[in-house]
Amino acid sequence: MVLTLVLIGFLALAAVVSVRWVLTRVDALGRIAPFPKISVGLCVAIALGCAVPLVLHARLEHRLTEAASQIAGEHVHVHCQTAGETWTDAGAELGFVRWGRDGVPERRTVIKYDPCADLRSWLASDKQRPSEDQVIAVHVLTHETMHMFGITNEAQAECAAMQRDARMAQALGATPAQAQALAHRYWLDVYPRMPDGYTGGCGPGGTWDEHLPVAPW
Ligand SMILES: [Zn+2]
Repeated sequence: MVLTLVLIGFLALAAVVSVRWVLTRVDALGRIAPFPKISVGLCVAIALGCAVPLVLHARLEHRLTEAASQIAGEHVHVHCQTAGETWTDAGAELGFVRWGRDGVPERRTVIKYDPCADLRSWLASDKQRPSEDQVIAVHVLTHETMHMFGITNEAQAECAAMQRDARMAQALGATPAQAQALAHRYWLDVYPRMPDGYTGGCGPGGTWDEHLPVAPW
């Protein structure tokens, strides 16, 4: 949002300087003033500098939205928290989906700034040796997708997500082997450390076992 305003501001400034030059370029003696190349060039350069991260952000959100919609089986929207939005955010969670007054989760999620950065770096990597933060970031996207799918129970959402982490990783470009390894690592290394409320009923034959072929157990 801040970047967008700065971008529009500098483009407007470049336009104002150019229009002023057009209107005043010939002075009373008929001399033509040179075009203010440096001022206009600087304004356009700053605007372009703002446009690059905005385009990268939009592309990342588009990619995550496509993958999440594929896993949810319907259109959902993924928003990546921007650096500006972190200033007013005190929450410790890595992502969230709001519930409507009717108790039905929205079809939109916010993934926090750090996990979005981890998703971005994982997407740009060869996906062979993901860091634990990258593994968690992929899982957070699957977990929030399960909420958008309509699951409100945290332990159930967590378990449904673990059974779909491999599919999510593949939807984001991992090979089947890389995707299975990532899902397996979350199940073995991260899930046992999850707080109460997120665990229980998961695993082979558990309450939330959906007997999917790509389950990590
Ligand atoms: Zn949750």
